[in-house]
Amino acid sequence: MKQENERLKKCSACNKLKTVGEFGKHKQSKDGIRNICKACDRKRRRVYYQNHREKILQYQKKYYRKHKDQRIMYQRKYSNR
Ligand SMILES: [Zn+2]
Repeated sequence: MKQENERLKKCSACNKLKTVGEFGKHKQSKDGIRNICKACDRKRRRVYYQNHREKILQYQKKYYRKHKDQRIMYQRKYSNR
């Protein structure tokens, strides 16, 4: 029997057949493997980051602030008891 990692899967981004070991895992998909290979995923992520850098940074700042507030609230809640 073939090793699970030697199974071939076609990348939907570069259309190349690659072994599933070259794909990332994705629990929500049918076979548990992402549709695009790791190399394409990295490339996409880099492009996405470049195109959305400002938004991502803003989001991270917002997220951090939100959680900082929650942490403070949490601490107050438990120190007031
Ligand atoms: Zn690919």
